[in-house]
Amino acid sequence: MGLLELLKNDGAEVISDPVQVQRAYVYIRVSHEDSADRRTSLETQRRDTERYASREGIEILEWFEEPGKSAFKDAEKRVEFGRMIRQAKGDPRVSLILVWKSDRFSRDRYQAATIKGELAASGIRVVSVLEPYDSTTTSGIVLESVTDAMNQIRSIEIGQVTHRSLLVNCEMRDAESGWAYKNGGLAQFGYKNHRVYADSYRKYQRISHCIWLLDDEIIAGRPVHEWAHTMLIEWRLKERAGPDVIAKRLTEAGVPTARGRRAWSDSTVNYLLMPDKLLQYAGYGLWNRRDFRNGKQQKDRSQWKIIENAHPAIITQEEAEAIHAIREGRKARPGKRGPRPAPYVLTGGLLTCAKCGANFIGRHMHGIDYYVCGSQIYRHGADCSEGWYIRQEQADKAVFDVIENVLSSDPALLKTTIREYNNRINALVAMYKSAEADRRTEITALDKEIENLMGALANGINPVAVREAINERVAHRDRLQTITDMKLPAKITLKEVASCAAEVRQIAESRETDRKRSAIRRYIAALEAEPQNRTIRVLMQPLDSILSTFGGSP
Ligand SMILES: [Zn+2]
Repeated sequence: MGLLELLKNDGAEVISDPVQVQRAYVYIRVSHEDSADRRTSLETQRRDTERYASREGIEILEWFEEPGKSAFKDAEKRVEFGRMIRQAKGDPRVSLILVWKSDRFSRDRYQAATIKGELAASGIRVVSVLEPYDSTTTSGIVLESVTDAMNQIRSIEIGQVTHRSLLVNCEMRDAESGWAYKNGGLAQFGYKNHRVYADSYRKYQRISHCIWLLDDEIIAGRPVHEWAHTMLIEWRLKERAGPDVIAKRLTEAGVPTARGRRAWSDSTVNYLLMPDKLLQYAGYGLWNRRDFRNGKQQKDRSQWKIIENAHPAIITQEEAEAIHAIREGRKARPGKRGPRPAPYVLTGGLLTCAKCGANFIGRHMHGIDYYVCGSQIYRHGADCSEGWYIRQEQADKAVFDVIENVLSSDPALLKTTIREYNNRINALVAMYKSAEADRRTEITALDKEIENLMGALANGINPVAVREAINERVAHRDRLQTITDMKLPAKITLKEVASCAAEVRQIAESRETDRKRSAIRRYIAALEAEPQNRTIRVLMQPLDSILSTFGGSP
């Protein structure tokens, strides 16, 4: 068993948000220009990608390797790349394509945008796992961020376009089965993704969608969806079994989790008992939950879109409510308190060992909290000879100091970055304004056509055909009208960045481990401890991607 699995079994999984679980293809290649450079060898790309995937809880399905190809000159020769794109579009499990740096994917931004758009239509995003930041100086970080602005903005664009198409999607159903289209990603335990092809009126491509069907794979003599029903009704509702008991029973029965794991954890069961998951078991579809500006935070519930009969129900709504009531009842019971939260902020994959790749874990010794490479604890230092115990308080402080320094660095450099960023936001806003104008024009035109057809109907012209034409246009118009709450990334000011620095300081001084973790995830791309020379390497997120999370305030 690998160390990562070992750490996950040791409870590290609990902090990862199960909603984020995604499956990916990975594309790696060495270009002509950098093939001599050791840092960019396929091995390095592979290692960095694996690390990123394990930190983000992403399951890698397949590797596509292309040695010695340039993204720029050899577009037509990138055989593996083409194969991957074709295969990805037809594979309902895939929701991500990971590349090491965004220029591995394509250096031609138009070509990249086209392919990414096609992938987005199949519910697949392209993510680069690493961006080249010189972490040694603060100004280095800021300067690098400027050169990278283009790539970052592009990903915001794709996010927005995807968001828009998702909203249209959620009003649409598969003509044959009547089930609503899903937005890709993993199907909930008990269901399976099924790809359907819609012969759309859109000329340029054949669009595929996912719907959820009951997972009828037979495990231990019964289909998986029946196991889901047993879990919810027999065990949870009738017996009032806790998540730990349920997890144990499912593991013993040999029923795999939605991610294909053999061992169920309490948290995986707990996750399936959340209100929104229970509603999904009752056949409700939920959309628009994710905030696409940063891909992480959940949107305000008032903005969720809920539709009935989105997929086959496994339980009734009354049963879902009753199961939910069990949890509420338990929470209200007084006098029962959980264990003291652990002070360790950098565990669970945030801080990794540069020497052996293991996660650092927390250790309490002689009254002091430390971080230490997991190899020291689980393998007695095998693969990693240096045992470096870092004082938890000092490590946390150092990391937050770096974040604060970047946010309050040289105002001149920050100003340049912010100006770059705001220029692109302006361009983006212009693009949306024109898309919005098109939408309104189209609605007006449809209204006019409907009116004319109504007139024809009143005059008794071929009623069946006219009625059909009207219904078609009304449906199209209604779909267009659902796209109203598009949120554009907001421009930002130097002052906002400064106030963020103050907020970081406040978080750093608090005792809220969860808040600290999410702050670090927002600002830091990677943290590597180098036991040989006793240093921690801090890779900041590109400033642009940090800035894009400010949004909201106009
Ligand atoms: Zn190590």
